[in-house]
Amino acid sequence: MFADYHVHTEFSDDSIYPMEDVIRDAVRMNMDEICITDHVDYGVKDDWDSGSEIIWRNGEPLANVDYPAYMDKIKLLKRQYEGKIRIKTGMEFGVQTHTIPQFEALFRRYPFDFIILSVHQVENKEFWTQDFQKGRTQKEYNELGGEIVTIGSDSHKPDQLGYGIAEAQKLLKEIGFQKICTFEKMNPVMHEL
Ligand SMILES: [Zn+2]
Repeated sequence: MFADYHVHTEFSDDSIYPMEDVIRDAVRMNMDEICITDHVDYGVKDDWDSGSEIIWRNGEPLANVDYPAYMDKIKLLKRQYEGKIRIKTGMEFGVQTHTIPQFEALFRRYPFDFIILSVHQVENKEFWTQDFQKGRTQKEYNELGGEIVTIGSDSHKPDQLGYGIAEAQKLLKEIGFQKICTFEKMNPVMHEL
């Protein structure tokens, strides 16, 4: 099972990788399944239809995913690539406590397969943590009975797509996991490692 469950495209403000190219490249590397997870960061970026003027920084808009265009593009590519790769509809929600209601509303608006909840910002400011989630945390999760694990590259450009997935599968197996997950309409689907 080769699945990348954390993938950005041109619909993220920090990527210009066209979604068609992402899918084409994933097919080329024999990926079985891919979940597109572009960024939404309420409080930091505006929605395209918010009514306020979108700010541009280094040629990239400080805006969330253009939702209708995103959903249409995923639908189109699903049809186009049927039988070649399974494409799932996801997003990466950069959650802050005060923006949760906005995410809940967005979640209700569209049929998602999978959502990544990330903490990227605190008090509307960007912040990055170092690798706080290395093997040890995953091992503890497994020892506590946790089974739901997806693997994703967090790819933003071509040389990152699918990166490290095989290695992550091997590491998970070594620390005791027997399965990895993909998602279908927000429900986990287990696959033997
Ligand atoms: Zn990401």
